[in-house]
Amino acid sequence: MDVKCKIRALSVHAGRAITRSAMKALKKIPFIKKRIEKEYAGIMGGLESTLKPYRNNYTTFAALPEQGISREEIISEMEKLRTVEEKKWRDGYVSGAVYHGDQGHIDFLNTVYAINSQSNPLHSDIWPSTTKFESEIVSMTARMLGSLSAEDPQEICGTVSSGGTESILLAMKTYRDRAHEEFRITRPEIIAPITAHAAFDKAAQYFGIRLVHIPVDSNFRADVKAAEKAVTKNTIAIVGSAPSFPHGAVDPIEELSELARSRGIGFHTDACLGGFILPWAKSLGYDVPAFDFSLPGVTSISADTHKYGYAAKGTSVILYRGKDLRRYQYFTTTDWPGGLYFSPTFAGSRPGALSAACWAAMVSMGEKGYLDAAKRIFKTAQTIKEGIRQIPELKIFGDPLWVIAFGSDTLNIYRVMDYMTGKNWGLNGLHKPSCVHICVTLRHTQKGVAKRFIKDLQSAVEHVKAHPDEKGSMAPVYGMAATMPDRSIVGDMLKQYIDLLYKV
Ligand SMILES: *Cc1c(COP(=O)(O)O)cnc(C)c1O
Repeated sequence: MDVKCKIRALSVHAGRAITRSAMKALKKIPFIKKRIEKEYAGIMGGLESTLKPYRNNYTTFAALPEQGISREEIISEMEKLRTVEEKKWRDGYVSGAVYHGDQGHIDFLNTVYAINSQSNPLHSDIWPSTTKFESEIVSMTARMLGSLSAEDPQEICGTVSSGGTESILLAMKTYRDRAHEEFRITRPEIIAPITAHAAFDKAAQYFGIRLVHIPVDSNFRADVKAAEKAVTKNTIAIVGSAPSFPHGAVDPIEELSELARSRGIGFHTDACLGGFILPWAKSLGYDVPAFDFSLPGVTSISADTHKYGYAAKGTSVILYRGKDLRRYQYFTTTDWPGGLYFSPTFAGSRPGALSAACWAAMVSMGEKGYLDAAKRIFKTAQTIKEGIRQIPELKIFGDPLWVIAFGSDTLNIYRVMDYMTGKNWGLNGLHKPSCVHICVTLRHTQKGVAKRFIKDLQSAVEHVKAHPDEKGSMAPVYGMAATMPDRSIVGDMLKQYIDLLYKV
């Protein structure tokens, strides 16, 4: 059972406990509030054992041990945990999550990390090597994404961040601060398709920006006309994905970015998922619309090195058109008794070793390495798509290259997913509309994985057809969660879920 399933289970239970339409008003009454909280607690109790499987077999440290535990013992325990957990991703059973995962590559990155483990780019005087790595990561990524040369007159520039979410947060903060400074906009708005990553919602919440959602068309690509209608004098940026996380669809970036340019506003391409794989699609003969800085309206791009850049988790790149724009991202303070202080991103101290490992991944892969990886991934995805198309009960959403979302007009797709979960697969359940996706990585290019996926998927469909009355474990949950009108209840429960994660 994956995390999202559990969360949806929670929302359904709550919906049953108290009629949903009355919930919002009732929630404000203290007595009712207590009651709801008690309900939540009951549901959470049931979840706890699956979320905390190691309580019985491992020592729990709620406080520091009086005497330090020996290094050997710690490492041996961790190795045991790894053995339990690694099989699933190593053998290619999970969607996304681990993008490379070959042992040689992992060992190489670990060696690089170990060499650089003390480094912190905040102290550029002590570790100029980290500064070199980071500036080159940015430059190499910019060149891959449409920057013309190191002396590019458009000055495509950027910084390294801790991940896709931070890159997106930084870009949105940058647009907000620029709009305030240059255009006196105090009620900033961004326009993003409903399929844009949740990180844009997060940025809106964190930075007091209004997020205006626009719909997508039948191929799950942003509706340009709707974007045009949504522009106001407060719009600071328009967003498009290349591709989107849910359905792997590349938005009409050219049209959207031209719209932004014609109105003098920023345009952000979210290439977190596609930044290191889409650039190779064209030379492999796939039809991919332009999405990078070759389009004059694109003013920023996020690209995740820790996805298809094959770096270790914890790095991403945020790029801007022009140093003037990038400057709005920076933080400086001149009066702190701790000295003259500045930082390019949200963090102060940062793990320089992760940047070193990212740089090492990039230069060891090279263009050829990325091209070959993309080729293998697209080929495997092709096999998987063909297999799904052979199953009449299923339909693929849109025309994706390698993030393949599929649903069904006749079967409950979450029951299909239930069966797949029983066969060890870790697929992503999505909603609005109901579907499931597999994000193909190098793990799936291993021999036999795509075939096994299709074989299991065929059995899943046959099973669901043959057992129409079977409830499944998660299917009813997904169904009801999708119809819960009061989203604040679901939101409350997600927060309780996070509480649970931090319970020892
Ligand atoms: C993964 C992803 C992000 C966010 O990345 P994190 O590294 O998880 O913070 C943003 N946008 C898209 C399209 C993504 O796939």
